[in-house]
Amino acid sequence: MLDFLGNLERTHYCGELRAAHAGQQVVLMGWVNRRRDHGSLIFLDLRDRTGISQIVLDKDLIPEGHAKGEQIRPEYVVAAVGKVRLRAADAINPKMPTGEVEIEATELRVLNDTRLAPFSPSEEAIQNEEVRLKYRYVDLRRPEMQRNFRLRHEITLAIRDNLSKQGFLEIETPILTKSTPEGARDFLVPSRVHPGEFYALPQSPQIFKQILMISGFDKYFQIARCFRDEDLRADRQLEFTQVDIEMSFPHQETVFAVAEEFLAAGFAAAGVTLPTPFPRISYDESIRQYGSDKPDLRLPSLVDVRPAFTDAALATLQIDPALPVVALRIPKVGELSRKEREDNHPLFELGKGAKFIDDFKRLSKGFPEAASKVRELVSADEADFVIIVAGDPANPIKASDTKIPGRLSEREINVYSAAGNFRTELAKKYADRHGAFRTTEETVQEAAALNGEKHLVDGSAAFRPIWITDFPMFEYDASLGKWMPAHHPFTAPHEADMANLLTDPASVRANCYDLAMNGLELGSGSIRIHRKDVQQQIFKSLGISDEEAHARFGFFLDALEYGTPPHGGIALGLDRIVMLLAGAPSLREVIAFPKTAKAVDLMAEAPTTVTDEQLKELHIRVALKS
Ligand code: ASP
Repeated sequence: MLDFLGNLERTHYCGELRAAHAGQQVVLMGWVNRRRDHGSLIFLDLRDRTGISQIVLDKDLIPEGHAKGEQIRPEYVVAAVGKVRLRAADAINPKMPTGEVEIEATELRVLNDTRLAPFSPSEEAIQNEEVRLKYRYVDLRRPEMQRNFRLRHEITLAIRDNLSKQGFLEIETPILTKSTPEGARDFLVPSRVHPGEFYALPQSPQIFKQILMISGFDKYFQIARCFRDEDLRADRQLEFTQVDIEMSFPHQETVFAVAEEFLAAGFAAAGVTLPTPFPRISYDESIRQYGSDKPDLRLPSLVDVRPAFTDAALATLQIDPALPVVALRIPKVGELSRKEREDNHPLFELGKGAKFIDDFKRLSKGFPEAASKVRELVSADEADFVIIVAGDPANPIKASDTKIPGRLSEREINVYSAAGNFRTELAKKYADRHGAFRTTEETVQEAAALNGEKHLVDGSAAFRPIWITDFPMFEYDASLGKWMPAHHPFTAPHEADMANLLTDPASVRANCYDLAMNGLELGSGSIRIHRKDVQQQIFKSLGISDEEAHARFGFFLDALEYGTPPHGGIALGLDRIVMLLAGAPSLREVIAFPKTAKAVDLMAEAPTTVTDEQLKELHIRVALKS
């Protein structure tokens, strides 16, 4: 038999009670985390979002409550009325913040019972994530998830507050709108009122935020939901949240300063310092040093070991002398057996026209000088695992060799990125040995344990942000035979490279930037094109005709003609920021109701078919191949 809440009012949260509350009359409400039956005494651990308190049901004191207690199962919802008392010395639980006290209940109301869920929030997360997602309401009750969402709230609040202090106005932009070109597929929404026409969900607020600059708002921000129909990964969801920024009259550095400040504020809200300014590196240099445009600075960079080899040695080793020869070093891996090394081989991407040498013993036999020079160049300790990556003449790939003075060719980039990807994969595999990621885990744990204390944990070694600048403006898409924008097509080229737009697209640098942290892309932005003539030229260089440009972004091109100030901005992925600060392995741990890798919401069971009437109203017929 269930009880009513009646006029009972909660006085405290379960996690709040301390020795100082002893003697107070309290009313707690929550879920039964655990129940222990000691005959005439029943103990309930009552849980809410703040923590757990122990309730004592004494048969002599409240026979009726005690009888109810006998029926209670975990996850029942109850209200307990009673007096806080100090526990006997031998019953104190130092592991619980409320472990010095318990509540001697004088009344117990059972507000609801529960079906038996396939797992209990009082335990660690179960391995089967699909079950967790299906019963998300139960999963979210787990203290770890409660903590993640509290953290998310605090970080978001701090970022909002900081941006507001920096003079940014939060302005919402439409969800039902027109396609925004961010390089993904659109989600389309059929219009009932306009048969055969569709809205697109925004891939980002990009065009609208630029229009807000034309509208004179000067500084805009939005914690904006973006929708991109692409394949999901641990760090990608169909809908995700960005801290979206746009400002008028900025330079790149102006945007960096704004972003560094709000990010540091977000980190501080999570208890971690993030020293500013962040380092900067050009795209080419990032590729050279890390084989990636989202480098993880917690690990040693790649090292050019070309000088260790004579031309003859390269020829014997069948290494392309015209391409980079680099070494990567994973610290403290220790000696690997041949079998262990071979197990790593599938982690190397063969499609990039590169090869690797990971058998140093063998290399030392044939080329003792080169081998020791390589280890010296990468400053390898005995236990460090060193691998050489170089161009493979036997396995050339179709890529351009075009050398623009001072810039990397596509084939060079391929070799570097083969090395960079191998470095990342091996670093993941040997994380326990090199320990470079442990600092991050420890910092996150330390910050979590601060528990409202005001001082901050030093995050300088655990979180390594870096700005990547001077990206190429275009990427050659061999399958399409066209130069494609490497970013959205509103990104301005460097003023100095403008003249080469049509004649030498490969040489044009974009006035855009990414922020990477610990191997994750946190976000990107750019200085935008604010002149219609330049915008038209960019469309032209991208092979977008006037008609197409007009059909897709006509309203925006029109707007550009009405006094557009120079402007620029950035968007950082909020989910990713929270994921890093929560120490979570996946975005799904910091999004309340995420989709699976198969793009399904298992709890809501979306997507689903709809009724024939709904389809008819939308003038849509489904043509499924059976
Ligand atoms: N709209 C861009 C994105 O979503 C960010 C920007 O350029 O501000 O990645």
